[in-house]
Amino acid sequence: MADKKKIATMWLGGCSGCHIALTDLHELLLDVLDVAQFEFSPVLMDVKYDEIPDDIDIILIEGGIVNDENEELAKILREKCKMVIAYGTCAEFGGIPGLGNLWTTEELEEEAYINSESTVNPDKIIPSEGVPHLKSRVRPLADVIKVDAALPGCPPKSEVIAQVLISLVKGEPLEIPDNNLCDV
Ligand code: SF4
Repeated sequence: MADKKKIATMWLGGCSGCHIALTDLHELLLDVLDVAQFEFSPVLMDVKYDEIPDDIDIILIEGGIVNDENEELAKILREKCKMVIAYGTCAEFGGIPGLGNLWTTEELEEEAYINSESTVNPDKIIPSEGVPHLKSRVRPLADVIKVDAALPGCPPKSEVIAQVLISLVKGEPLEIPDNNLCDV
């Protein structure tokens, strides 16, 4: 329908758990679809960067800024979306990936590519081409782009996601419960 708001989601440096919570909307998805339509989402219909439409009303962005690609994509999404929501604790604060800030980039790469129990890498090669470069620090979304609101939780509860999306679409004040954590 022409008067429905255009909404979208994207993930950056997170674990995808916030998007799994989105798939747990179950019948609440129908309430969201009454007032909005999804234009793209990694769990619904993915989109190439150069095909991102520039008339998105609201986007939920999961994850913090872990690497160069995250920052590039965050800036593209900011240009193309009227309202950006930091979706989940990683987007709002850095979250679990932010624990990487306790080590240097070199230490993290050595652990991932050389030292971990499951790695077989006798030549101790750390890839530098064709993979996004890690930032020296994980940062929340608001450190690199303007964020209009935040939906905390790790992940946010599905019923709260639906409630927040519908409130945003209708232009109503956001009411996010203090205990907005996942039940599982
Ligand atoms: Fe995963 Fe929690 Fe981060 Fe969401 S906030 S991406 S569930 S770690």
